[in-house]
Amino acid sequence: MTKKTVRDIEVSGKKVLIRVDFNVPMQDGKITDENRIFEALPTKKYVLENGGKAILFSHLGRVASAEDKKDATLAPVANRLSELLNQKVVFVPETRGAALESAINELRNGDILMFENTRFEDIEGKKESKNNPELGAYWASLGDVFVNDAFGTAHRAHASNAGIAANIKETVAGFLLEKEIKFIGGAVSNPKRPFVAILGGAKVSDKIEVISNLLKVADKVIIGGGMAYTFLKAQGFEIGTSLCELEKVELAKSLLEQAQGKIVLPIDFAFTSKFANEPASHVGPITEIKADEMSLDIGPKSIEMFADILKTAKTVVWNGPMGVFEMSNYAKGTIGVCDAISKLTEATTIVGGGDSAAAAIQFGYASKFTHISTGGGASLEYLEGKALPGVEIVANK
Ligand code: AMP
Repeated sequence: MTKKTVRDIEVSGKKVLIRVDFNVPMQDGKITDENRIFEALPTKKYVLENGGKAILFSHLGRVASAEDKKDATLAPVANRLSELLNQKVVFVPETRGAALESAINELRNGDILMFENTRFEDIEGKKESKNNPELGAYWASLGDVFVNDAFGTAHRAHASNAGIAANIKETVAGFLLEKEIKFIGGAVSNPKRPFVAILGGAKVSDKIEVISNLLKVADKVIIGGGMAYTFLKAQGFEIGTSLCELEKVELAKSLLEQAQGKIVLPIDFAFTSKFANEPASHVGPITEIKADEMSLDIGPKSIEMFADILKTAKTVVWNGPMGVFEMSNYAKGTIGVCDAISKLTEATTIVGGGDSAAAAIQFGYASKFTHISTGGGASLEYLEGKALPGVEIVANK
């Protein structure tokens, strides 16, 4: 189903409500990862260049009480956006009321305004995140059209997406949401084959639905990271003190049966007796692990084998690191996978948000992927094959 985008509507002279996801990591008031802001620029530029009045809003972190407000203001994000657009962004430190309404009425064509963190509306009864109908209707009343460009929150029906959509004539996708639908939605619904998925990260339990769905649509599902050890245990191997979810071993067994050879597990590992950034004591097959050792990364033979499988792939989706990549001694598997994917020139390569997106950016591979998703939870639910509320509200063409 093709969704309508901002290209399909008239924006000139219109008050264009744009839901963005500027839930960016911050330290001491400074933004530490600007990817979501960069990725959201094209929609804004399009609206401004075409004479719209852009009214932006986003959530940022969790706001449970008035004390949380100080650290959750979007003011630094508005400042940064202003620098990136080279244009004044009027920041209104309110989420409703006369000051906001008059600032909106003063906008001229091509102006941009951002209002305060939508989660400030959660302090008294979670109005935003429980999709309070009065709040959605109020925000909808501030604009003429609604552009949803917030993929990171697309798996939730909140007042600032579903609530507005229910009260406005038409909702269209921004360019970032369009891109996420095209790449992640496209991979799970109509992939070019061979389609290889690489899953990693800490827990099987977080990704059961993703594995099940990808087993249906992918040609190979490579499993690395902490998740792999529950599968190795299910195959009857001793795994020492490596990460394992004992209550998921039976499930791992049935996934392996169901997969009929589609699941590929690592063949060598980096062993250590301490969870610390010290060199591995030895590298080898799982049969060489000692009872008091754990594996914190995959080994070079696994990287080579994964790279070999990836070589012929036409679609690649990667979610989850191959090891404890936060420690330099155990980042080799994750870097190796980044490197192997970066060499694929014919394939559509997608990183499914969260830690793997952070790793791809941190290790300098960002430009090598076709698409790095801006959604962690949202990209996982999309890979599970679920309909996302933030995508469902967008009108079909
Ligand atoms: P997730 O959020 O599920 O993608 O998990 C990411 C986390 O998994 C990262 O913080 C990694 O350090 C962790 N991880 C990956 N491989 C391992 C491993 N072999 N042992 C322990 N933790 C791991």
